[in-house]
Amino acid sequence: MIEIVTPLLEWFKENKRDLDWRKNRTPYTILVSEVMLQQTRVETVRSYYKRFIEALPDFESLARCPDGKLMKLWEGLGYYSRARNLKKCAIEVVEKYKGIFPKAYEQAIKLSGVGPYTCGAILSIGYHLKYAAVDGNVLRVLSRYTASSLDISLEKTKLYFKEEIEKIMPDEAGAFNESLMELGATICMPKITKCDACPLKNNCKAYQKGKPLSFPVKSIQKEKKILEYTCLFITDGKCCILIPKEKDLLQGLPAPLLINKFVTSNEAIEYVENLGFSVKNAEQLQDKKHIFTHQIWYMKGYKILVKDMLDYPCYTQKHIIEELGISSCFKKFLDEVWD
Ligand code: SF4
Repeated sequence: MIEIVTPLLEWFKENKRDLDWRKNRTPYTILVSEVMLQQTRVETVRSYYKRFIEALPDFESLARCPDGKLMKLWEGLGYYSRARNLKKCAIEVVEKYKGIFPKAYEQAIKLSGVGPYTCGAILSIGYHLKYAAVDGNVLRVLSRYTASSLDISLEKTKLYFKEEIEKIMPDEAGAFNESLMELGATICMPKITKCDACPLKNNCKAYQKGKPLSFPVKSIQKEKKILEYTCLFITDGKCCILIPKEKDLLQGLPAPLLINKFVTSNEAIEYVENLGFSVKNAEQLQDKKHIFTHQIWYMKGYKILVKDMLDYPCYTQKHIIEELGISSCFKKFLDEVWD
């Protein structure tokens, strides 16, 4: 595959997108942008990245950042475990490496939240070391270029392409990795290919066969799991009760009381009264749907007005909106709760 190096580097120089995280490149900014870009679209990341870097410009500031502030900065990006791991990684870099991201692959890969892709991206872009960074874009481009029959959902396929790239890695390791990612993001896309504009078309096997979209080969993905929840927004009219959820998708973010099935208004009242509240009134909110990577949540919501809030953690609308991170799946209800 050595023949792909020069055309890709030249194409990248001319065609790379103007992205904020390409301006001030340090291992820290590369780490933040790469973690944000996992499972989130470039357009969404643009505004979050800028705000995040302005508030927390280096490993030290991230390591010291209170969890509430961190969640607030991450709010809307979803998958909050990424933010938590990012902070954990920053603490490790500060404590073990005096705030300087290690250059040794064996040390870097052991940091929290740093997998082979992120590790390769930071070391190659930040330190110009010859490591591959194989993400979905890169796998797609190379599978098509070689008309590979390997299943890209398998780890051994990722490893195979990683080794193939490292065999041909030029001195401009970061630019080369990025050129492959960029080609996958803008030319050799999942459902559309712009082969006429592709610098690899002369030797691309999938293009020559006339069927780029038949690659890559991927085992059939599991269907998303469908779940039903009832969300209880218990309020005294001023504050609303939210409780951190530790062990599921919500990853420690505050959430309303959840019942893992649909219930009627009377059942919701009974549930809340059994917790010791004195209910004045219950109002049904608009049903909502939220799509996670592997799950779809259908949600019923009730605003339950109670006489007093007992000892549950409760927050004003201002506090929830301005300071508290709350998953976007519940945010959809908030306007109605404070109506
Ligand atoms: S020629 Fe087409 S299929 Fe081949 S790598 Fe380029 S865009 Fe992808």
